[in-house]
Amino acid sequence: MPALRLIFADQLSLSLATLSGTNKQADTIMLCELMEEATYVPHHPKKIAFLYAAMRHFATDLLQAGYNVRYVKLEDPANTHSFSKEITRATNDLNCTEIITTEPGEWRLLQMIKSWQATLALPLEIRDDDRFLCSTADFAKWAANKKQLRMEFFYQQMRKKYNILLEPGGKPAGGTWNYDKDNRKPPKTGLSYPKRISHKKSEITKEVLQLVCAKFPHHFGTLEPFHYAVTPAQAHQELDHFIAFCLPHFGDYQDAMVAGEPFLYHSLISTYLNAGLLLPHEICTKAENAYRSGAAPLNAVEGFIRQILGWREFVRGIYWLHMPDYANLNFFTATTPLPAFYWGATTNMFCVAETVAHTRAHAYSHHIQRLMITGNFALLAGLDVKEVQAWYLAVYSDAYEWVEMPNTLGMALYGDGGIMASKPYAASGSYIHRMSNYCQKCAYNPKELIGETACPFNALYWDFMARNQSKLRGNQRMPYVFSTWDKFGPAKQQAIHTQAMLVLNRMQEGTL
Ligand SMILES: Cc1cc2nc3c(=O)[nH]c(=O)nc-3n(C[C@H](O)[C@H](O)[C@H](O)COP(=O)(O)OP(=O)(O)OC[C@H]3O[C@@H](n4cnc5c(N)ncnc54)[C@H](O)[C@@H]3O)c2cc1C
Ligand code: SF4
Repeated sequence: MPALRLIFADQLSLSLATLSGTNKQADTIMLCELMEEATYVPHHPKKIAFLYAAMRHFATDLLQAGYNVRYVKLEDPANTHSFSKEITRATNDLNCTEIITTEPGEWRLLQMIKSWQATLALPLEIRDDDRFLCSTADFAKWAANKKQLRMEFFYQQMRKKYNILLEPGGKPAGGTWNYDKDNRKPPKTGLSYPKRISHKKSEITKEVLQLVCAKFPHHFGTLEPFHYAVTPAQAHQELDHFIAFCLPHFGDYQDAMVAGEPFLYHSLISTYLNAGLLLPHEICTKAENAYRSGAAPLNAVEGFIRQILGWREFVRGIYWLHMPDYANLNFFTATTPLPAFYWGATTNMFCVAETVAHTRAHAYSHHIQRLMITGNFALLAGLDVKEVQAWYLAVYSDAYEWVEMPNTLGMALYGDGGIMASKPYAASGSYIHRMSNYCQKCAYNPKELIGETACPFNALYWDFMARNQSKLRGNQRMPYVFSTWDKFGPAKQQAIHTQAMLVLNRMQEGTL
């Protein structure tokens, strides 16, 4: 029975379940570059270039390992640019009698795959993606009968399951599960940030860069300079560089933001991990070894491992547990159109301009920029949740719906009404002022609430709380916010509302 084994762009691992049991004489491995997938949101050119270069290198590795490979290039004249049509074409050309694949990272793709069984009348096998450390079935089991799902409890269970950062007897290393209290310091002056690796471009990568430049000239984002790893070996170099030079400071400055410094001590590995060039367990093991050998402190290593073993697996669990209904949630009925400054138009808000500039240049911004700058602004201004999600999905090179949606809709916008987070991550300018040096460079003043030069985040913050108070007053974690609001009294409350309307008008006019 010759099988067609389909591999998606984010499944570039030789250990992928799809490859298991391949009959190298009879079966064919298929990968496709499709316009349909590159443009359903306008993906950043660096993201497209990374994926095509990594896919083409992966196909070379497969050929070297003795597999038959059918690789449909974007510029192939016969390419139909649709998954379903490419599958039909391939099964006809190759007389395949079976289709094998691994569960994809998006609900929409899973529905499409399932439809092939009927349209092609062929047996179809969808395998579990065992590159993740918690299967969707295990997550559903853990979640069953719980009133609220909280990452911290899930994470502790994952530490025990994989015996990561545990002392003999099962206690957490150092006696505590979570070292956040030692982390999240504001940036101090005089810190230096490690230089990042730049990879030599292969002929494959050069060809892909030319292709992407020609085919996607209008997508937001700059293609060159292109600094990404595109093979597992290069991705491992990035990981080793992070562990040696950045991990020791990762915890301390995890939430810091510094003008002109897009990377600080972050790992920059999400793009490689989400595409399969790195695997989560090996990353956690390397980080743990750094702690055991004394190369990095526990607060940094635990904080880093929590992101991979905890948050990453948790958001995936949430996505598959709640889809497809999750995609239509909009707790605050946020419908204001996304302003043009998200796509690079001028804004006087330095923090926003800086985050968008990093995004445009690198298809990357770090977590706190995503959460507390562009995400926080979108939350406070009531921006349309679907437009905001489409933006995040398009502009970041690590973005796939399973991870983007719970982070954007759930964590940043609280659009799921508390499934992901116990309260909205809403903050005024004073948080940004404390955690960055952005405000020193801004036309606005984070200490002013009302007036021409008042930081827009301030009035928007209070107005957001006021207009959503019927939904938020009952939240156990927010009593202080509403007691302060009540103390303001009617005159100040009205002045804040007027200021917030002014800010929103300016946002729409393009003068904010
Ligand atoms: C609004 C919003 C949208 C986001 N969209 C994405 C996305 O599309 N793809 C994506 O991979 N991450 C997303 N994140 C999570 C996080 O911001 C990125 O994983 C991180 O910035 C990637 O950079 P890094 O590799 O340098 O991470 P580091 O800060 O070095 O963290 C290490 C690793 O931990 C994992 N991680 C950390 N936080 C999260 C999280 N909340 N969810 C999942 N994994 C996490 C990532 O794999 C990351 O590489 C989003 C966060 C927010 C607030
Ligand atoms: S003053 Fe306000 S708008 Fe300006 S950088 Fe600070 S937080 Fe951002």
